[in-house]
Amino acid sequence: MGSRVCLVHYHEIGLKGKNRAHFERILMDNLKAALAAFSVATIVRISGHILVTFSVAGQAEEAYRLIARVPGVARVSLAFHTNRDPHEYCAAAVQALAEVGEFTSFKVAARRSNTDYELTSLDLNRQVGEVLCEAYPDKKVQMHDPDATVHVLVVQGSAYVYARGERGVGGLPQGSAGKVMTLLSSGIDSPVATWMLARRGAVPVPVHFSGRPQTSDTSEYLVQDIVRALSPAVQVGRVYVVPFGDCQREISLACPSSLRVIMYRRIMYAVTERLGAIEGAKAIVTGESLGQVASQTLENIMAVNEVVSLPVFRPLIGSDKQEIIARAKQIGTYDISTQDAPDCCTLFMPRRPETHAKLDAVHEAWDMFDHDAMIDELVAQAEYIDFDCPCYRAPRVIAERHDVLAPRA
Ligand code: ATP
Ligand code: MG
Repeated sequence: MGSRVCLVHYHEIGLKGKNRAHFERILMDNLKAALAAFSVATIVRISGHILVTFSVAGQAEEAYRLIARVPGVARVSLAFHTNRDPHEYCAAAVQALAEVGEFTSFKVAARRSNTDYELTSLDLNRQVGEVLCEAYPDKKVQMHDPDATVHVLVVQGSAYVYARGERGVGGLPQGSAGKVMTLLSSGIDSPVATWMLARRGAVPVPVHFSGRPQTSDTSEYLVQDIVRALSPAVQVGRVYVVPFGDCQREISLACPSSLRVIMYRRIMYAVTERLGAIEGAKAIVTGESLGQVASQTLENIMAVNEVVSLPVFRPLIGSDKQEIIARAKQIGTYDISTQDAPDCCTLFMPRRPETHAKLDAVHEAWDMFDHDAMIDELVAQAEYIDFDCPCYRAPRVIAERHDVLAPRA
């Protein structure tokens, strides 16, 4: 019947004209990294698809769902690879249709990618269709919107036959856009925001502000769990952890309590921008959603945003909590995010946070403590944790100057 292979379809990167080969190369590298735990034999381009073959039987069946989660993948099909003998590919078609589950109607969609094969696509459709009609006499052929479609792709000396597959997450391969710094808490929203930018081809570099030493370091472990939950389909190479507890305490003692959260956020943004400059990142990403909590009103977003000059992306700004939760479940971070952990968000929270901050009052509060020294100090105290991620390149300045930023012991 031939071996099982995964056939990867990509829409968007197919549209990129001259860059197409570049995008395909990145997607192939990312697929290789995502499939590191499998015995992959080859990852090659064939006729507008990427073909993944395995050297161990049974692995294609296990791997195709993971492949569907890799950014840039529009669809993945679990195909039979046969030679061009009609007996072989027709038998594969019968088998392929058997594994789609319940169906009442079907069609054949055949394509030959080069003309050295004597049968045209129409001939192939007819030939395979006849065999399937014989094998499934109680099913009906339906050209428009059938329950199942059996694809036959004849390429060079081979035929690929498939009906079963999974829709991919779409988007662009990670690494096709630059780095972004993502403000990653252990809450529900920011892991989703991080994932969304990764799906658009960015390499996220998360920064987590922990309440340490005023709280335990539980949230720091949850953030690492979140990174592991996103992988291996979505890859993060480095997470920065900034122990923020003492500075929060200082702010809480110096500033009016209603403006504390805005001060915390301004510091967080400013420190993230500085780390972003070291990383060569081109934007900051947050999980904010308009009006969701006190700090996320338009006035407060403005009052925080003004401390940075990098663009700040808020992919969830117009999303409803239920939509965000659904996505968090789909990407596997929800169960981690709903675990209780004290982090800097819960530390020194005012009873009545300002919801519509006036800029004058914000500027006054900002000058009540030495914010520049605090930002310098937090950047110097930032720690980092590294993960396996081929699309992440560590900045040289850190590797050379461990006194600037030290890896976490
Ligand atoms: P999340 O679920 O992402 O924590 P949230 O609904 O709890 O978001 P806030 O606590 O107001 O909202 O945080 C808004 C955004 O600020 C977060 O989405 C995240 O991007 C950033 N942020 C909040 N706390 C932290 C933190 N401890 N470390 C890093 N970023 C944070
Ligand atoms: Mg939060």
